[in-house]
Parts: sequence; C-alpha cells; structure tokens
Amino acid sequence: MSKYLNPRFGTFDAYVPGEQPRDRQYIKLNTNENPFPPSPFAQRLARQAAAELQLYSDPEVKALASVAAQRLGVKEENLIFTNGSDEILYFAFLAFCGEDTPAVFPDLTYGFYPVFARACGVDYQEIPLSENWEVIPGDYAGADGTIFLANPNAPTGIALSSDQIEKILIANPDRVVVVDEAYVNFGGETVVSLIQTYDRLLVTRTFSKSYSLAGARLGIGIASEGLIADLKKIKYSVNPYNVNAMTAAAGVGALLDREYFEKNVETIKENRAYLAAALQDRGFCVLPSETNFLFVKKPGISGGELYRGFKERGVLVRYFDLARTKDFVRISIGTKDELDFLIRALDQITEAQK
Ligand code: PMP
Repeated sequence: MSKYLNPRFGTFDAYVPGEQPRDRQYIKLNTNENPFPPSPFAQRLARQAAAELQLYSDPEVKALASVAAQRLGVKEENLIFTNGSDEILYFAFLAFCGEDTPAVFPDLTYGFYPVFARACGVDYQEIPLSENWEVIPGDYAGADGTIFLANPNAPTGIALSSDQIEKILIANPDRVVVVDEAYVNFGGETVVSLIQTYDRLLVTRTFSKSYSLAGARLGIGIASEGLIADLKKIKYSVNPYNVNAMTAAAGVGALLDREYFEKNVETIKENRAYLAAALQDRGFCVLPSETNFLFVKKPGISGGELYRGFKERGVLVRYFDLARTKDFVRISIGTKDELDFLIRALDQITEAQK
C-alpha cells in the first residue's frame, strides 16, 4: 500500500473472493456459480449486442427493465440494474447507512456486508444466529440501523419465510430493510410483493446464480419509487453506464428463456437432494438448504482438512477459517458428474484418515 491511500481503507481487509485458480483444471464447487452455461438465447442476444459496442450502453437499461418488470410483477420505476448484485448492495450501504445509521446484519452472513460498511465508513452491528444457525426475527425488533438480511442466508443456506421478514419490517417502522435474495430461486420465499406495502423495503436479486450469468455481472434492486430514486442518485453520481450492453442483452435473453431457467433450477434442486443424501449417508451434518450450496460438517474431520483433501484431488469447495465455521465447508451444487467426483474424492479422504 502507498502512503497516499485514504486511511479509511488502510484499516481493514478487503473482501476475499472465492479462489479462481488457473494452475490446473478443478471441479469448481466453491463460489456458487451455476454449473450450466447461460441460455443459448441469452448468448445469442449478447453476441448481437457486441456488434454495437461503439455506443454507450443505455443507463436506464430500458429493454431489460421492461422484461424484468413484467416478470417480477412490478413497474419499471421499481427497478434499478447494477454490475452484479454486489453493486446494488454497495449502493444501499452508501444510500441508507451513515454516521448515525449503522448497518445491522447477522454475525454469520455474506462476508461482503462488513467490508461494504467499512468501505463506506459506517459502523455495523452483528446479531448472532441461533444455535441452529437461524436468523431469529425477534432479535431485529427496534434495530439501531439499516438491516441487511441475505434470504436464504449464506453460507448456511437457511431461509426465513416472507411472514418472518414482514415481522422484521413491522418491528422497525422507521428503518430501511434490505433483503438480499441472491439465492431465492432455489427454494426460498420472495418478499418482492411487499414493496407495495413497505416503501422502505429493498429487495436485491442477481443473475449470477439461477440464470448462469456470474461472468456477465448483473444485479437488480427492487423497491418503492422513492428508494429507487435514492439509489439512482448514487448510480448517476458514480457510474451511469454500470451495466454494459452485452450484459443487458444477455439478461433479457435469460429472462425470456423461461423453460431453460426452470429446467436448470429443477436439476440443481434434484442434485442438491442427491448430494445431501450422499453426505448424510457418510455421517455428515447437512444444514437444510434452500440455495445452490450445502453447508456441511462431519465429526472427526475439520473444515480445513476437508478443503485441503478436496483440493488435492482436484475439487474446490469453500472454507471459512473463522472460529464458528471452522468445522464446515460450503459445497456448491454442480452437475451430477461433478458431485459423483466429489463423493469419490470424499471417500478417498476418509479412507486416508484411517
Ligand atoms: N449476495 C449473496 C448472499 C451472495 O452470496 C453473493 C455472491 N457472492 C452476492 C450477493 C453477490 O453476487 P453477484 O455480485 O454476483 O450478483
């Protein structure tokens, strides 16, 4: 680091993305990507858009807004599009947290939240999950700041119902509540319709998981016109062309190719059940997941040992080296062949332990 860096950034560690090694071919089950390629229709629209890249992209992303509004049952004025959902979350920290308004989120959740808070120079409060790794809605009543909830939560995979989220909204009548629905298409309940009742609810979505577009970087914010206007103020203050033309076109294609989306989500849910059963057969504790990953542990072997054992055998999973999570690994749901490979690797790891 140089002496010129704003001291605010010198005092904390940046977010560490899941590893993307290029040294050998790995089976990548560490960053919750979709194992299937983007819809062929989405790919075709992106290629067509590439022929016009001499032009700036549309800052209002109109074509995508119209398709997404219809799909989500909201108005275009209720939507903002961003460079991945990380960017809408960052905008939300900038817009709705401040000196007197800290961020409030669970002590085990998406690891970017504390980093965003620090990057924005705001305080944050962490509310512990229960013994069973659940968010307890009552613990958020009368919260001291803007609430951020990943629902389903990561890395646990456990979801709150929409009624439970509504309880949190009711118990915080003057607070913005941000519900990060990155994984909701794999089983959780969405709260998008609650934006009609609560003008201080922001729901965020991503195309990275269920739509197989992690590399395109596309996120959505869904909220009342008032909150969207606030977020657009931020967007137009930092990067109006945040969604590139190829990505916007791919997003349209992905939303319109509904059959492809539904088939892949269904397969991932089936594969999730298949992997959960295989792990339980082998003595694992598997948290109940509504996502495209499983958070798992096995008595007698640490998360670090599992992570290293898998990596040596060509499989990447995610390990969080924190006191509370050191027994666990998080495994993204891949294709059936990838999961069979992982299960064979696991059997070798446990054999080598004997
Ligand atoms: N929220 C959660 C809970 C996530 O796990 C992720 C993925 N790392 C994101 C948001 C951000 O995803 P993206 O920026 O790819 O949309």
